[in-house]
Amino acid sequence: MTTLPGHLAFVPFVSVDNMMQLIHHIGLERMLIELAAAIEDDFKRWESFDKTPRVASHSADGVIELMPTSDGDIYGFKYVNGHPKNTKSGLQTVTAFGMLADVATGYPLLLSEMTILTALRTAATSALAARHLVPRGARCMAIIGNGAQSEFQALAFKAICGIDTVRLYDIDRAATEKAMRNLAGQGLALIPCDSPEQAIEGAQIITTVTADKQYATILTDNMVGTGVHLNAVGGDCPGKTELHRDILLRSRIFVEYPPQTRIEGEIQQLAPDHPVTELWQVITGAVPGRTNGDQITLFDSVGFATEDFSALRYILGQLQRTGLFQRLDLLADPDDPRDLFGMVQRAAPGQPGGRE
Ligand code: NAD
Repeated sequence: MTTLPGHLAFVPFVSVDNMMQLIHHIGLERMLIELAAAIEDDFKRWESFDKTPRVASHSADGVIELMPTSDGDIYGFKYVNGHPKNTKSGLQTVTAFGMLADVATGYPLLLSEMTILTALRTAATSALAARHLVPRGARCMAIIGNGAQSEFQALAFKAICGIDTVRLYDIDRAATEKAMRNLAGQGLALIPCDSPEQAIEGAQIITTVTADKQYATILTDNMVGTGVHLNAVGGDCPGKTELHRDILLRSRIFVEYPPQTRIEGEIQQLAPDHPVTELWQVITGAVPGRTNGDQITLFDSVGFATEDFSALRYILGQLQRTGLFQRLDLLADPDDPRDLFGMVQRAAPGQPGGRE
């Protein structure tokens, strides 16, 4: 047991290595279930959060975004990028880190890697939404785009929605082979496919999680029959979508935070007043999810700040029990809070406590 002091002279820092150890300590599927529960709890108190579309800085090759929110007691933000061309030079498409702070003092409470945590929270949110939206008895999911996010999506849908079969397709066969290797022995039947058409055969759930900085058409209208649930994860920026517009016109569309999704999601292709349902209303039971077996339901996922807040809050809750963090010297902490200058001087070479 590691004690976190009430007044922190350090900031707990969860490194990539700490995060990986935490996943193995808790178990990946259990962690996905617990993260989904934390995200669900915060969706249930949606109205207590400060909400704003994320602040995006676009460039020719990608985007860098800041995602802030607060519940009045705790403030959180995530830094995240999206650079689809990165994988060609051995870099990841998405990297992230995030922070929680105490609203009362403004002092940071946690700094954490969030590249892995984003993959977990995105998958947990998709599966949480799907629990309300998939057709009864859905067991088979197609995953189109078999990159960094894909295995997390597969295992979240297994743990949270009970799927037992995954049909995998990627334009790059090596990505599908990598996902097949990673998912082997995890209790899922795995079917590699040669085309998106083959991948969606018999699938009640279709996850699109591709990366391309353009209006792509991963699914055309004729590919999507009635009674399926679409989990569209990859279209999350202006000018970056995955579904043909006609599919959207036939779907009941569920979104996280409409002001952000209208800018970034699949629905950027639709009129600004096209009706959508907010996920928090489905989660609280105020609005029904799927209402009949023939409906096409679409979760137009872009990722919202409260989901990162929930994930960070969950990680903060694990630190004391597991000790899986480092002490980061991030806060200047003079004995006399107004003597910041004196603290710097006392660190001079030759001073007691200073460097030699
Ligand atoms: P990645 O680059 O690791 O993987 C993307 C995969 O898509 C690659 O294997 C690529 O070959 C494949 N692909 C590209 N075009 C394709 C096509 N036309 N058909 C089939 N496959 C295709 O990226 P990642 O980290 O897995 O992220 C995937 C997408 O999800 C990105 O666009 C990212 O921005 C988005 N994302 C969304 C959320 C969210 O909350 N909604 C969170 C994280 C990532």
